[in-house]
Amino acid sequence: MIEKRILDRIEYCLKNDKKISFLVGAGISAESGIPTFRGEDGYWVSGSKNYKAQEIGTKRFFNIASHEVLKFYLYRKSITEFAKPNQSHFMLKEIESLLNDNFALISQNVDSLHKKAGDSDKRTYLIHGDHDFMRCGDECSNELYPFPKEIQLKGRQKDQLTESEIEFLKCPKCNEDLRPHVLWFDEYYNEKFFKKDSVLRISKETGILFILGTSGETTLPQVIAKNVLAKSGTVVEININESYFSKLLSNKANGIVINSKSTPFLTKLKTEIEKKVITLYNKT
Ligand SMILES: [Zn+2]
Repeated sequence: MIEKRILDRIEYCLKNDKKISFLVGAGISAESGIPTFRGEDGYWVSGSKNYKAQEIGTKRFFNIASHEVLKFYLYRKSITEFAKPNQSHFMLKEIESLLNDNFALISQNVDSLHKKAGDSDKRTYLIHGDHDFMRCGDECSNELYPFPKEIQLKGRQKDQLTESEIEFLKCPKCNEDLRPHVLWFDEYYNEKFFKKDSVLRISKETGILFILGTSGETTLPQVIAKNVLAKSGTVVEININESYFSKLLSNKANGIVINSKSTPFLTKLKTEIEKKVITLYNKT
């Protein structure tokens, strides 16, 4: 069952044109077999070297060893490329179809699974970038380039990167190495690539925010949750582990922490939202 105060709040949002927003992270994609950066899989062994993801996923590291970073990226992409959306992704998509412009999805995931599940581009904000795109590592322009089709991803080994692949991973304008279109650990959020201003605006229009599958270790998600609370919105965290958000919400009247996995919660929520929408708009 979904608590009545959550359902009342959803009804309030629908009647008052407030956003019902979802902030999601790697936990959502774990069921699709995608390892998280911060979990125990967050390391990278290449040759005889052992790196932490937080070390290799940086602009600083790219500047000194771009091919090492590209190997890491290609290997991760070889996992995300063949992963399939799971029930959580599909429930989010169903909820979007019910809520239309009242819906916003703010995702930290770069794995394209929201897109594969059918979520619309216009209501999905990929605040950590998108593995399907690359851009110039030397920042000669802001252009995003689709991932080169010539590069074979199936069965990719961790140390694999050939001379011809390196050629496909060059900027078409200046011939420097391309880089993945993701936010690295030593970079800052911005509007141009990561929709920072847009999601901050959405946080102020949000009447209820659901947080799923994220531990909240990056700044923008933290600010989003705080903005919703500051505007008297409700923030609901669904998680099986303690996180930054559980602590933030623990002593707030408009904070709710639910100990559950994402999929069962989203499945129940979708059913309840469907009922609300039918009652409010007499929609069948
Ligand atoms: Zn360039």
